[in-house]
Amino acid sequence: MNFKDYIRVINDFPQPGISFKDITTLLKNGQAYREVIGQLTERLQGKQIDLIAGPEARGFVIGAPLAIALGVGFVPIRKSGKLPGETIEADYALEYGKDKLAMHKDAIAPGQKVLIADDLLATGGTIATSINLVKQLGGEVVGAAFLIELLELNGREKLDGAEIFSLIQY
Ligand code: 5GP
Repeated sequence: MNFKDYIRVINDFPQPGISFKDITTLLKNGQAYREVIGQLTERLQGKQIDLIAGPEARGFVIGAPLAIALGVGFVPIRKSGKLPGETIEADYALEYGKDKLAMHKDAIAPGQKVLIADDLLATGGTIATSINLVKQLGGEVVGAAFLIELLELNGREKLDGAEIFSLIQY
């Protein structure tokens, strides 16, 4: 299955010059969505993982079904002000814009092995910040998994040390 056939590319969204990869057209196809989660699961099977952490909102769409498939827990990484318990926060820069990400202080126990999952790796800002938060909580980041990687933005370079893979690249 060629996942690119199911992903809609929308130019100049959300800003002029951005070529947005819209995964909603893939997600609404049950077979394609299941195949994405199946392929990610296959790549991660046998790896020691205690928890999956995913940044809102599309990191939930990839991370949560992946956690169920691997039989591990899921913890959300959210924008500032959304989580009800005690949190830690970190600033981050997006391909477009800037914000703060937060996690519950008790989301991860020290030493737990955490895989970070998201739909897309662009500049790497979101995942670098996610890695920072997980490490602050004492978690060990064992890798990061993506459906899509935008190669020309070199997001990987921001994440040196972390084991990264993506199912498709643009
Ligand atoms: P980064 O922080 O790596 O620059 O941007 C990645 C984050 O922004 C991801 O959480 C992703 O959901 C979102 N994002 C940036 N560009 C796109 C895009 O073209 N398509 C989708 N689906 N998400 C994007």
